[in-house]
Amino acid sequence: MPGRGTKAVHGDAPQGDPRDGPITEPIVRASTFRFASTASLIEASQGSTGFYTRYGHPNFDVVEAKFAALHGAEGAVLFASGMGALAGVFQAFLRAGDRVVLQRDIYGGTRALLAELQERWGVDVTWVATGDLDALAAALPGARLFMAESPTNPLLKVIDLAATSERCREAGVLFVLDATFDGPLGCTPLAFGVDLVVESATKSLGGHSDLLGGLVAGAAGPCDELRRARKLYGAVPDPETAWLLDRGMRTLPARIARQNATALDLARRLDADPRADAVRHPALASHPQGALIQRQAASCDGHGGGSLIAFRCAAGSAAAIRFCDRLRLVAHAPSLGGVESLVSLPLLTSHAPFSAEERAQAGITDDLVRLSIGQEDADDLWADIDAALR
Ligand SMILES: *Cc1c(COP(=O)(O)O)cnc(C)c1O
Repeated sequence: MPGRGTKAVHGDAPQGDPRDGPITEPIVRASTFRFASTASLIEASQGSTGFYTRYGHPNFDVVEAKFAALHGAEGAVLFASGMGALAGVFQAFLRAGDRVVLQRDIYGGTRALLAELQERWGVDVTWVATGDLDALAAALPGARLFMAESPTNPLLKVIDLAATSERCREAGVLFVLDATFDGPLGCTPLAFGVDLVVESATKSLGGHSDLLGGLVAGAAGPCDELRRARKLYGAVPDPETAWLLDRGMRTLPARIARQNATALDLARRLDADPRADAVRHPALASHPQGALIQRQAASCDGHGGGSLIAFRCAAGSAAAIRFCDRLRLVAHAPSLGGVESLVSLPLLTSHAPFSAEERAQAGITDDLVRLSIGQEDADDLWADIDAALR
């Protein structure tokens, strides 16, 4: 069975491709396809790829097959952004009057989108505390969909995927997981019974901060539903963007291995430094869910850990702002998972729409800093971090 590194390069043909031809897939810059006969047009119109680009496209197929192979899924569907993918899931599976159970630690865009669906489209939302299986079991009966995220932003909490899947299966509720922070080399949630895994391909899959994309992987039936929603609502990317995303995915194993190793190295240095408090990284011995993280990452050839670090500036919230302003090599920017290291203040980014009380409940203090570690050398990054802390 080929490993995930091989699949990241070769997609669903991990034994190689015996045909003559270019080593990369050509970019097919076409919005439509031509047909020699009405009969072949009618036949193509029943399928997805090769009729009209919003229905499906050869460059989308490459990325979708690769993402599906990495996740061990029957299929995958590419969208124009992570939000496009999440919206596609809700468009495909929800109707007015349905109820969604939503994990409390969730991406701000997901939260805002569900608030919109609640207010304007008559979808009910029940919130549950992250990882609270009893509250989840109580909330699930009668719901259509459970939406969760793991690891969470920015505190990198992890949920027990097998136990959560079991609760969802018992209640007949679709379990959708946003696994952007792990990526397919960090964890394969479908192996633990998750129904659909969603990732913002804008982050580590693309990896170069130069494109937007979103992917959903799962069984063939739900993928057909997602493709139907994508065709209707139109959240398709450009063929060139799909090609660039595939290019990024080819180097995913090398990028992830280096970024994760550097992040762990820097997390250890911060952990030993009195100027940083409450340092969080999934592979740090002090992470309270170490055993669960190990178990879930074990499905992934040891690629787990991630390239994100969260910590509190011991000198307080004003110092956290000064820290971001003083960093030179690390750019102050939202987003994560790219080759450039980035810093952000959750207070001003992901958790800006939250009230002070909600932030306190979520453990998002004003002195909290999030680092996304890129490809730079650890010593150079540490020199920058050390100078900024000083
Ligand atoms: C960035 C992100 C999204 C949204 O993705 P876009 O590509 O920006 O639309 C969704 N979920 C998580 C966890 C993210 O980090």
